[in-house]
Amino acid sequence: MTRQRLVVANWKMNGSLEANAAWAEGWMRLERPACEAAVCAPFVYLAQMKPLLAQAGLGLGAQNVSQHAAGAYTGEVSAQMLVDAGVEWVIIGHSERRTLFGETNAVVASKVKAALAAGLKPIVCVGETLQERESSQTLRVVEEQLGAVISEVGAKALASCAVAYEPVWAIGTGKSATPEIAQHVHAALRDAVARFDVETARQLRILYGGSVKPSNAAELFAQPDIDGGLIGGAALKSEDFHAICAA
Ligand code: PEP
Repeated sequence: MTRQRLVVANWKMNGSLEANAAWAEGWMRLERPACEAAVCAPFVYLAQMKPLLAQAGLGLGAQNVSQHAAGAYTGEVSAQMLVDAGVEWVIIGHSERRTLFGETNAVVASKVKAALAAGLKPIVCVGETLQERESSQTLRVVEEQLGAVISEVGAKALASCAVAYEPVWAIGTGKSATPEIAQHVHAALRDAVARFDVETARQLRILYGGSVKPSNAAELFAQPDIDGGLIGGAALKSEDFHAICAA
């Protein structure tokens, strides 16, 4: 089956009213790529980006969500609030959230559950550290990370998600995984889902993330189980993000 390609920008904690508007203006000057694409912006810029991205043919995403529905959780943003803001996608379990903000597999799983309950589409991030890779723990780690989500929401719920394989050692380092390394993990993740539900596994879009650039996107996206990308640094320039989408 052919899965529609999906390319998602993760702006992280970057941007300003002026820079974001310039990004959208730059994007609009370029031809619309054939793939589905979305931009995950910081919370405070969601309202600004909603009409700009709609005009540009791009989806709107957030970078985090609370696992709680409402109440005394100072500084948190609920899934329903994201829906109110017109958000479609939400990145959950990015390695920066896991390592810098202590998000465990259980927390990530409960965030996915909350997002799905509100009708959002989670982009579930998994990935191993360099130390885990060097000690041959990669597949165990990523399958455990995804397994925690499957235990919480069931494999069929992944039909409303995308999974992003992002090796921690490749994020923001300029050192992407080779297409072969990435394909190996993507295929293993798809197999892991297939053990629960073959049809969901066939339809699931598994994105690669970690130092994707215009120069290496095509060879990564040519792999049979790589269905697109989650793009950090290179997504801050609309021309580079566009070149990756075109690839
Ligand atoms: C990311 O943060 O999701 C990411 C893939 O970053 P970069 O593209 O900068 O490696």
